[in-house]
Amino acid sequence: MIGVLGGGQLGAMFASAARRLGYQVAVWDSDPDAPALREADLPVSAPFIDAAALERFAGPISAATYEWENVPFSVSAALEQHVPVRPAPRILRLLQNRLDQKHFLATHGIPVAPFCAVRSLDALAVPREIGYPALCKTATSGYDGKGQWRLAGPHDLQALQSRLGQQATSQSGRSGDSGWIIEQFLSFEKELSVLVVRGTDGDSRTYTVAENVHEAGILRTSRVPAEIGSRTADQAIGLARAVVEGLEGVGVFCVEMFLMADGRLFVNEVAPRPHNSGHYTLDACTVSQFEQQVRAVCGLPLGEARLLCPAVMVNLIGEDQTRVLSGETLRGLLRTPGAKLRVYGKKTVRPGRKMGHVTFLAEKGETAWETSLTLQRLLTNPAQPEVR
Ligand code: AMP
Repeated sequence: MIGVLGGGQLGAMFASAARRLGYQVAVWDSDPDAPALREADLPVSAPFIDAAALERFAGPISAATYEWENVPFSVSAALEQHVPVRPAPRILRLLQNRLDQKHFLATHGIPVAPFCAVRSLDALAVPREIGYPALCKTATSGYDGKGQWRLAGPHDLQALQSRLGQQATSQSGRSGDSGWIIEQFLSFEKELSVLVVRGTDGDSRTYTVAENVHEAGILRTSRVPAEIGSRTADQAIGLARAVVEGLEGVGVFCVEMFLMADGRLFVNEVAPRPHNSGHYTLDACTVSQFEQQVRAVCGLPLGEARLLCPAVMVNLIGEDQTRVLSGETLRGLLRTPGAKLRVYGKKTVRPGRKMGHVTFLAEKGETAWETSLTLQRLLTNPAQPEVR
């Protein structure tokens, strides 16, 4: 039995890959409606601080992993006393903090956007070397563009300072305990991501580079292969590999990066788990990112990560689900050649919540993209979050 911390759609897809290989799965999530709990042989629905739940979860498992990097480090460290936890809790802790992560990348020679640490609200400032526009991000707990603010000029900085100050007061000083990071806003040409899997023996596999479009900080589409030259693709893969080798990680990692107009690449973020931009691997690759996670966590040989055909993945976010999954729209989607729909079965629709996705497969990348446009045009295009 393999244990997964976190019960979102990534956990559900992991559980189904694990079961296909003959494993049982324990899933632990604090939300009783978390989709992966339904896929679990042993569902544990309890807060992560529940000691009895830890015992129930840890008892029957032989290895553990996670599907979300914001699970408490303490739980992964406690599990490590009993079973192998992959990727290692030290990596989870490092990547949970954007500042530690950026320092790690920078000291390993990986290019990142110029950044600086902000330890207290009073010290919130954009240094001259970084300049405007800039981004302010919480050092911990941010995801899908949450805990991230764009700063166009000093006026935004003051507005943000008072907003974060009010938040801190209303949450009795808890907010911002771990500080913030100020980062140069990069006017990139494209966003790319590379999935790397590394096994217990150091063997590794990389997937084809994906090209991603975000809306309001949330992934909207992934297109594979990315529309980039082969030199850029090789560089992106080389960078991603260097990050995972540097971490000495075992498991699946996603390295997100920015491609600038002059060809430079900057790493934005590293996730120690399968990634939304890799969902296409379920339908378009020899071995999916989820099966690779099972293999890596269990110390098995890794699988081939070959792309069988081009793919475009479109996320269904929040109300998209209601818009798309009914009447003629649904019928049209189901009739579309090469379209594969996955619905996560979340009971509550919330703005920004990932509810499902559609993967469009075709012999040519251009055809997959063209086919996906009907769905893309239907979906919302919320504006980038600004400081309000
Ligand atoms: P993150 O939470 O760091 O993954 O950021 C979410 C999204 O915000 C990214 O995918 C980008 O679209 C955007 N973003 C993050 N950092 C930067 C940056 N330094 N410059 C420009 N856009 C960024």
